[in-house]
Amino acid sequence: MMGYARDLVCRECRARYPLEPRYVCERCFGPLEVSYDYTAIRERLHPERIAMRPPSMYRYRELLPLEEDEEPVDLGVGYTPLLHAPRLGKLLGMEHLYLKCDTTNPTHSFKDRVVSVAVTKARTFGFEAVACASTGNLANAVAAHAARGGMKAFIFVPSGLERPKMLTTGIYRPVVVEVEGTYDDVNRLCAELAEEYRWAFVNVNLRPYYSEGAKTLAFEVAEQLGWRAPDHVIVPVASGNLLVKIHKGFEELTGLGLIPPHPIRFHGAQPEGCAPVARAFAAHADTVMPVRPSTIAKSLAIGNPADGVYVLSIVRKTGGIVEMAGEEEIVEGIRLLAETEGIFTETAGGVTVAVLRRLASQGLIDPEEVVVAYITGMGLKTLEAVEGVVEAPIRIPPSLRAFEESVLSRVPGNLAGTLGDR
Ligand SMILES: *Cc1c(COP(=O)(O)O)cnc(C)c1O
Ligand SMILES: [Zn+2]
Repeated sequence: MMGYARDLVCRECRARYPLEPRYVCERCFGPLEVSYDYTAIRERLHPERIAMRPPSMYRYRELLPLEEDEEPVDLGVGYTPLLHAPRLGKLLGMEHLYLKCDTTNPTHSFKDRVVSVAVTKARTFGFEAVACASTGNLANAVAAHAARGGMKAFIFVPSGLERPKMLTTGIYRPVVVEVEGTYDDVNRLCAELAEEYRWAFVNVNLRPYYSEGAKTLAFEVAEQLGWRAPDHVIVPVASGNLLVKIHKGFEELTGLGLIPPHPIRFHGAQPEGCAPVARAFAAHADTVMPVRPSTIAKSLAIGNPADGVYVLSIVRKTGGIVEMAGEEEIVEGIRLLAETEGIFTETAGGVTVAVLRRLASQGLIDPEEVVVAYITGMGLKTLEAVEGVVEAPIRIPPSLRAFEESVLSRVPGNLAGTLGDR
């Protein structure tokens, strides 16, 4: 049974292709994107109908490239919390700051959304093996979803990734290949491998399907805000796919009449050690010059971002900015989010919070406006980034006297109220 996706369309010359595992336009080498029958979707997709469905990214399945009866390879992805952040908001002068917490996905990053769609299509297209070039989180998500879908997995990563990300990938028993080089070297190798082997490279030959999964980060936020758009979104940028597809997601909802038309300012966040898009933005350039990454935000370390120019154009068109965060700011961002709101994010989230602070200090956000910051990955995966900044416990022998001598003297003032009469 046919779903609502109709064909693949070239983003540059609008040439059309059937829904197959292909990703570049044969005429102009532009990237391909899934198109839909929006008239049919409009008939079917109403907020009441969506509300009756399970809390999953597949509650919006008409807007994903799935056939009507296609069973997704799913570990329970999506419908992650959108949390109001009053304490961080107060600090930054924002009354309506919200955090979209994709730390709670099955493999603890937003990559589960894109990978669930890609592995589903890989299985439907008859592939036996899935593969990817990854900066870490994608490796986790592909390895887990391949296991779930009963498929083999080949994972290619640059050398020097965080140890937790390697272990949380290896546990699913994929073939993991560590390539001596940067992510961009790995990606080039995978483009060659995709020509040689009949594997479903989730972010190469299945990229048009893969990338659609990221739209659900717009759909969920709109629904969680009561079917409306925020005034600002802050999105971390690696390849740029996430930002581009959140934009497409909000546009689709507006076109379908599911949210009222409302301008959203899109802001991109990059680490200073890998900020090709932020630098192009600052230089008013239309092209993105590749860089060689060197940053603790390894999940954002893509020096030659495939969707960089599309990010630039969306950010400029919507009146946003692409800003960068230094290494120390990233760690401070992680810390600040943890201590103000109880959310432990990985380095990419630290970049997002750091850029949110910069936006606030530049006065770009009105206190009344609704702001959504995307927290895309979980802190346990990048423990090494915070190892040096978290205070050691206060060690004492097991006696009341030792407690009073060693601990009470050091308790910060704001905890004194918990001590009663003493
Ligand atoms: C991959 C990733 C991103 C950015 O994704 P792109 O779509 O490549 O821009 C952001 N945050 C985390 C945690 C990621 O793993
Ligand atoms: Zn084309």
